[in-house]
Amino acid sequence: MSFAQRLTTPIEEILEARLAGEPLPREAAYRLIQAEGDELLALFSAAAALRTRAKGTVVTYSRKVFIPLTNLCRDKCAYCTFARPPSDPRAHTMTPDEVLAVAEEGRRHGCKEALFSLGDKPELVHARARQELAALGYASTFDYLLAMSRLVLEETGLLPHINAGILSADQMAALRPVSASMGLMLESVSERLLEPGQAHYGCPDKVPAVRLHMLREAGRLRIPFTTGILIGIGETPAERVDSLFAIAEIHAEYGHIQEVIIQNFRAKPDIRFRHWPEPSALDMMRTIAVARLILGGEMNIQAPPNLTPDAYGMYLLAGINDWGGVSPVTRDHINPEAPWPHLRELADTTRAFGFTLRERLAIYPEFAERPEFVDPALRPRIAQLLRLCEQSL
Ligand code: SF4
Repeated sequence: MSFAQRLTTPIEEILEARLAGEPLPREAAYRLIQAEGDELLALFSAAAALRTRAKGTVVTYSRKVFIPLTNLCRDKCAYCTFARPPSDPRAHTMTPDEVLAVAEEGRRHGCKEALFSLGDKPELVHARARQELAALGYASTFDYLLAMSRLVLEETGLLPHINAGILSADQMAALRPVSASMGLMLESVSERLLEPGQAHYGCPDKVPAVRLHMLREAGRLRIPFTTGILIGIGETPAERVDSLFAIAEIHAEYGHIQEVIIQNFRAKPDIRFRHWPEPSALDMMRTIAVARLILGGEMNIQAPPNLTPDAYGMYLLAGINDWGGVSPVTRDHINPEAPWPHLRELADTTRAFGFTLRERLAIYPEFAERPEFVDPALRPRIAQLLRLCEQSL
């Protein structure tokens, strides 16, 4: 069947073909991401069926602490409330003692993941960042990150997951023995978002080609990798689809994408986009469902529960199978106004939709069992933590 024929084919036939194992044509995805009425119900039903066929009724989360190593950053994303200019009294680079204190508290609360999330290369533009790093004894944010990942792993046994912006292949290779997984949100492949007034104006690290290059380099290094898209930042529905296809194509080549996050923009009073409209829960559901159809049943697809507190359970109806990192200890420093739900509430909501909540590690089990994706230095610790997760079932 040609693409032209598919476009005139009813949505039900396209969905049936997808459930029968055919890939979703891009043109069909452009149409599905704007589905309404009966088509919308058919879209959700197909996406949920694809998920349940591959994943059953288990929904996972990672018990983590959030370590915001530095909130200085060289980029100026219009939706960001995490990064602070050097003159802001809230600008802060954590000391090793502070890093260890957070990780240790997490360990006491049963956390197994230390999420390092930080601004991108602030020392390239901010003298304060250079001075703070020098005082700590490091030449770059990367050098400090590497040392702190090793410190947390060795002192607390938490598995670092690195979310540090753009890293080179050499840097990722150096981090591999001290981190179980890494991540970089693709966010969007739209170059338009780099233009004046758009979300990524003034953000050299948000150039789509740079981010796609890092995703590929991580694939060459066999690093279990987290990526995703950020919706509602000025991208068109078609650009959303293009971003998902870009992720799917890289995963088809390297097989290292362990999860894809669909994250919704949230307006905040202190950001450039404070008056920008937020995407609705329905828009999230459409995007999740199309992501499931593009990426297939085996991909882990995640939506953060804290960014849609009143309705996140509905995302299960659109095909997610993971809630991401949830912390019983630290707040979401990227969205500080949005507390994570209590783990008991998360379990209850998950159960109300007919699913079972289960803990996973920063590295997903299907990657943990493949030696090429686990650095030899980490294998004993990961095996030990996997046993702990299984005992908690
Ligand atoms: S979103 Fe990330 S890259 Fe953008 S300004 Fe915030 S910390 Fe920097």
